Amino acid sequence: MSKEVALTETPFDKRHLCWFCEEPAGGLFTFVGSLPQAVAIPACRECRLIANARELDSLYEYRLNVKDTLLKRYAKHLAIGSNWTREELEDSGFDCKILGGFKKSAWFMYEVARDRINARGWTLTVNGVPVEDTTADTGFEHSGLRFASLSAAAHHFSQTQGLDEAFLCALVKTLGRSRFGYALRLATLYRVASAKEKQQFLSESREDEALR
Ligand SMILES: [Zn+2]
Repeated sequence: MSKEVALTETPFDKRHLCWFCEEPAGGLFTFVGSLPQAVAIPACRECRLIANARELDSLYEYRLNVKDTLLKRYAKHLAIGSNWTREELEDSGFDCKILGGFKKSAWFMYEVARDRINARGWTLTVNGVPVEDTTADTGFEHSGLRFASLSAAAHHFSQTQGLDEAFLCALVKTLGRSRFGYALRLATLYRVASAKEKQQFLSESREDEALR
């Protein structure tokens, strides 16, 4: 661990932000990988703790792990945005003491969680030289959220909307990832269907798709 630590450069408009989630940074995450030099990256306390909890071999992997953990931790906040629009929430009539508080804070909590998940960070450089290609991205976007992968998206929506994850994945495979939203609606429609009904629907969809 005798590698010298180099501080990475931060674009001016991001100078107080966490590289992982773009909330205010509260310290540095030090990455000691296969790079010739250990590098220090600004990070908020929460992302730093997540990143330090597991040893990984690239910054890209660290990033995926942090995003994945945030996604699971804030699944309930993120679900607010999939289950409501801001207008619906405002018109919800939730005016009693408990639900009125929910109404006031819910959209804000959703926006904070959404922006942290979607934050893309910036290219890390030391003395102007990029540290590592962290831009490679298998990302998948749906409903205003950017997920590390299609499977992370399927897991999130299954969890927060009480859907059968295996059925949803099978639907996406049949229909194609560009029709993820349609697959979600079908999975919702079949939420209480039996395994047999789902199987039958899948085989019919596969036949339909083969004819397209
Ligand atoms: Zn952070």
